[in-house]
This record gives sequence, C-alpha cells and structure tokens, in this order.
Amino acid sequence: MHQAIVLHKNDEEVTAGIESLTDADLPDGDVTVRVAYSTLNYKDGLAITGKAPVVRKYPMVPGVDFSGTVESSDHPDFKPGDEVILNGWGVGEGHPGGMSQKARVKGEWLVPLPSALSLRWAMAVGTAGYTAMLCVLALVRQGVTPDKGDVLVTGANGGVGSVAVALLAGRGFNVVASTGRTEETDHLKALGASDVIHRDELSGRGKPLGKTRWAAAVDTVGSQTLANVLSTTQYGGSVAACGLAQGMDLPTTVAPFILRGVNLLGVDSVYAPMERRLEAWECLATELDTDKLEAMTSDVGLGDVIPLAEKILAGQVRGRTVIDVN
Ligand code: NDP
Repeated sequence: MHQAIVLHKNDEEVTAGIESLTDADLPDGDVTVRVAYSTLNYKDGLAITGKAPVVRKYPMVPGVDFSGTVESSDHPDFKPGDEVILNGWGVGEGHPGGMSQKARVKGEWLVPLPSALSLRWAMAVGTAGYTAMLCVLALVRQGVTPDKGDVLVTGANGGVGSVAVALLAGRGFNVVASTGRTEETDHLKALGASDVIHRDELSGRGKPLGKTRWAAAVDTVGSQTLANVLSTTQYGGSVAACGLAQGMDLPTTVAPFILRGVNLLGVDSVYAPMERRLEAWECLATELDTDKLEAMTSDVGLGDVIPLAEKILAGQVRGRTVIDVN
C-alpha cells in the first residue's frame, strides 16, 4: 500500500483527500518510482481546488513533478536504485502524479538526478525552478547580456519568480523584482534583486508604447502586466512569458513588436524537448546558489498540501514548497 492525494469530481465539485492505494492503482508505464519528494506549483493549486480545468480525468493524483528512486524498470536507460526527476508530460493532469509515495511513468519522461545533488534539492527547484531556468536560457539564446540593461522579473516572490531572480543575479544581470509583497524587499534583495517595485506599477491599463525600462523580462503573470512589460521593453529587447497568475488574457497591441522589434518568447516546461530539459537541469546544478534556494524553500508533508492549494492561488505562498511524501 502507498499513500497519495486523490482528486475526485462529483457533479461540478472537486474534492481532495489522502487515500491508500495499491500497485494495481498505478497507471501504465515502464518505470515505477518510489517517490521521495514532490512540490506545490501554481498549477497543482489549480488542480487541487478545481479552479481551472487542469485535470483531464478523475480520479487523479495531482503533482506535476517528483523526485525519487527507481523501484523497477523495463526501460533500457533506468535500473532499480537510479535517482530520477520528473517534470510535466501531463503528469498530475492526465496521468497520476507526484503527490504519492509511488508513481509509474514512461522512462522517456525521466531526467537523471544531476550527480552530487539530492532528491530534496531537485524538488526545491521543482517545475517552477526548472521553468525559471528555461526562461533565462530563452533570453540568453536571444542575445540578452548583462550590459544591455535591467531585467525585470514579475511575480518575484512566487516560485518561478524567486528562482529567476537568483539565476539572473548569478549571471550578472541587474534584476528588478516586481511584487505585490514589497514587505519581502529584503528577502528579494538577498536573492539578488537590485531593485524592487510594486506590481501595481505594471498591472493597470497602459499605453501601447511607454518609456522604455527593461532590456529583458521574465514574466510569470500574463494579462495586463505582460502587456505593460512589452510596451516598456527597450528596442530589440526580449520577454520570456511563462505564466498567468494575473490572467490568461494579453491585452496588448502590435506596437512593441513592429516599432521596437521586441521579442515575445513563449516558454513551456511541460512538453519541452529532452535536450532543453537536460541543459536546464545541468545549468541549475551548477548555477543556482544553494543558500539562496534554501532561503526561498519551505518543507511540508502530504497532509499539509490541500489547505496550501488555496493559498498558492491567492499569492500567499512565498518561493518554493517541497512536499516530503513519506
Ligand atoms: P506562485 O503562485 O508561486 O507565484 C505566482 C506569483 O505571481 C505570486 O507569488 C505573486 O507574486 C504573483 N501574483 C499572484 N497573483 C497575481 C495577480 N493577480 N497579479 C499580479 N501578480 C500576481 O506560482 P509559480 O511560481 O509556481 O508559477 C507562476 C506562474 O507560472 C503560474 O501562472 C504558473 O501557472 C506558471 N507556470 C508555467 C509553466 C510553464 O511551463 N509555462 C511552468 C511553471 C509555472 P508576488 O507576491 O511577488 O506579487
């Protein structure tokens, strides 16, 4: 038997609880993993509360990521005892996920744990941190360098935002952190932000083009904020967009693109190709300051997760939340 959070849908209501499952409850897959840690991501909050149609079938074990040890494998690349990381691929959405003591997945979805790092480290980073790295790499591929000017991070106290601040500062960028929680200014500066602005500066209705402020940005918020970020990005600058914490809409015009050559770079972590994943995890292993990661990480047990789901959607969870499932 193993314990897992299980979501059910009755009429329109989603309910969540901890249940005891057996191996017969595991889905198809060629690798079975003893899960050590999962994490709470914004998307998991949506899944557990049922506030957005993240889950495609019920019952479902949520958790879009996990780290753990291979228990059995029919996949040539993995053997019992291997330590692995999983992010995305529809796990926790259409395929039972990481908020469980056991998971069964396709071996082709798994990333080997970078050497010398722990399973807990992998989930302190989690999907949020790995997505932050994908954003930074997207900007760098577009030619963004520290001498070009300030780089903005929106939703800076969130999981993706906190890691993005630390990674960009580590690469020598001058980072401006935008947040609704300016009382966390000292924390954001300790992560590496040079300046902290209130998110209200960016979240209201703006003009098609404004005074330029950013060489680049990592946006986790979408909606009016992303529109304002685009309209205040300098000529030839780039914005990596990965989130929708303010909203799914994007009320912008083509002006930033056709008059300033601004690049809007979409970042998806769920179906990112394996070479991009491996690159991101290798960079995280070498670049992400472990003291900074610890400073933004909280640890909880499986029993703490359900109430936290509402809190992450309300923007009340700071940084990263590691779930020890055992
Ligand atoms: P968090 O909840 O940890 O962070 C989101 C942050 O956004 C909050 O902490 C808050 O930051 C800010 N925020 C919340 N509500 C609003 C609002 N109404 N207006 C403006 N800002 C707001 O989530 P994650 O870091 O896990 O994820 C961030 C976003 O990225 C989510 O939308 C998520 O779905 C998306 N995502 C996308 C991925 C992809 O593959 N594209 C992968 C992972 C995440 P503050 O308090 O600093 O203002």
